[in-house]
Amino acid sequence: MPENPLGGFGVTFKAMFKKRLTEQYPEYKKPTAPRFHGRHQLNRHPDGLEKCIGCELCAWACPADAIYVEGADNTEEERYSPGERYGRVYQINYLRCILCGLCVEACPTRALTMTNEYELADSSRASLIYTKEELLAGLDEGMVDSPHAIFPGMTEKDYYSGLVTEAAPGTVQQEPHSKNKLNEPPQPAETTFGPDEPAAAEAVREK
Ligand code: SF4
Ligand code: SF4
Repeated sequence: MPENPLGGFGVTFKAMFKKRLTEQYPEYKKPTAPRFHGRHQLNRHPDGLEKCIGCELCAWACPADAIYVEGADNTEEERYSPGERYGRVYQINYLRCILCGLCVEACPTRALTMTNEYELADSSRASLIYTKEELLAGLDEGMVDSPHAIFPGMTEKDYYSGLVTEAAPGTVQQEPHSKNKLNEPPQPAETTFGPDEPAAAEAVREK
């Protein structure tokens, strides 16, 4: 029998007056640290053209093989980025991604960055493979949605030097060819990743 049977309650009483650590999620969402690694975003130039050049460096850098990219050539009738190439298909599989940020480090154009969004849970495999449509940043003031012509008189280098600050007056969106429409990818996202799926096998062979 202990000398003071009430002594053990001391721990309980001390805990009663401590600050509570319980988070009232999802009613209250605690803001993240500014550099928190959340969902990715594909960025645009200030006139709305895309920064991604379809180089696949992010996919090569990814330790979880969570990124799938297909690049394609721009044309004057259908231009998505200022240079020669753009990312026609871009997918991130959030069932694999560990949010390490190595893909962001590898990107040469700052096309790929991470947001603070962390609510990525879902109930189906397909919905956790985010497509280019879902990852592409929205349009800010002064932007025109891609595809559209390059700012007259500017070069690709000028874009990266910050000389283009908004879309040129009169810029209009070009009509995408059916094969390049974002809503008509060459294969649906849910068939891109996975050992038994032809698109994934193709991508591995090409590497
Ligand atoms: S954050 Fe890491 S795991 Fe996720 S896609 Fe980028 S490199 Fe791959
Ligand atoms: S996001 Fe960056 S690294 Fe990845 S394909 Fe596009 S330009 Fe290349």
